Amino acid sequence: MEAVVTPEAPPRDVPVFENAVQAAAWIEEYLKGVLTRDPDNINLYTRPTASTKFKEGELHVTEVVDPCYLRSIHRLIGTERDHEESESKHWAHTGLLYEAWVRSALREAFPGRIRSNTLVQGLPTGVQGYDDLWWKDTWTVIDVKSRSIGAGENGPSEKDKLQVAVYAAHRAAHYGHPVHAVLVYTYRQDLSKLDAFPVLYNPEVIIAQVRSNAATLQGWVQLQGSALPPVPPTMDAGKFPCSFQTRDGLKTCAFYSRCWPEGPAKRVFTPPEQVQKLMLEHRSFHQQKQALEAQLKPLEAELKRIKGDLEPVFQAHGPVMKGPAEWRQDLKMLVMPGRVTYDVEGACLKNPDLQPLLEPYKKTGEGFTQLRYVKAG
Ligand code: SF4
Repeated sequence: MEAVVTPEAPPRDVPVFENAVQAAAWIEEYLKGVLTRDPDNINLYTRPTASTKFKEGELHVTEVVDPCYLRSIHRLIGTERDHEESESKHWAHTGLLYEAWVRSALREAFPGRIRSNTLVQGLPTGVQGYDDLWWKDTWTVIDVKSRSIGAGENGPSEKDKLQVAVYAAHRAAHYGHPVHAVLVYTYRQDLSKLDAFPVLYNPEVIIAQVRSNAATLQGWVQLQGSALPPVPPTMDAGKFPCSFQTRDGLKTCAFYSRCWPEGPAKRVFTPPEQVQKLMLEHRSFHQQKQALEAQLKPLEAELKRIKGDLEPVFQAHGPVMKGPAEWRQDLKMLVMPGRVTYDVEGACLKNPDLQPLLEPYKKTGEGFTQLRYVKAG
């Protein structure tokens, strides 16, 4: 008897992902494969056909996970903006185009099986969220972002990870089935590059966090600006997202003057001649340091060679070698035991269930800045 195939039956070659790591690896390989076979494929989506369901005046998941709750509150209560957010609108639109490309590339292989911009159920009352792509056959939620290449090198941001984790956690709760969360980063400067990152999360922790953030935001919004929370302690007038340097100059958050009435951080407005002087100085010292480091390399190699020759002597005669009297120094061989460390990242990659268990012990170190010479762009 002929087998009955229901319309819900997935295509035969649908991949099976046991975890988000496998899902991200498969998605990245597949999308890169499309671009390798047809490098112009992504250009199909540089025309404005994409749309967004983002509605002003409603609380969205992107705001609930925003590290600056104040920005979300200002937007929701309609605070007058310092300026239009043309830059972010432009990049939001670019993100929609890339999302359209990822969707179309996946749908080509699995027609009719991948839903897009679907309302996520189970979010707290008054919060709206639409996941970019929902691939139920593989229990995977995919969120597509367009970022600068530097962002990809540093790995996905906490905000991006949290956003896709919120969608996946609510889908998982709705279906009573684990859901994998994957973030796809496409890059504005180079359309031929992309990365897919697995996002590991604990659904209960995420759902509780969303509820608590949403309740706090809604409480402040109800006050309609008669009282506002203080500027979050993690925000800094001279740093993103409050202010940031772009190729077109300094940009500020649309509500900058509300939080920092004294004006933009002065250090950002260093006169150009002063900037040039600092850059020349930096380059000069940097080059001197590089020259010294180049001289150090052969010295280190010689010291390593002599140490290798001396080691058997120490082993034969004891740990201390007497130096000539005029040195007033002896040479001692110290035996340092190997340090025991645990490769937590490797363990999590092999067993994704570990990551959520480690979440309560997570500590984020102080970030730091680094100056690096890169190819002139
Ligand atoms: S200026 Fe900074 S602190 Fe104020 S709303 Fe904007 S991002 Fe938040």
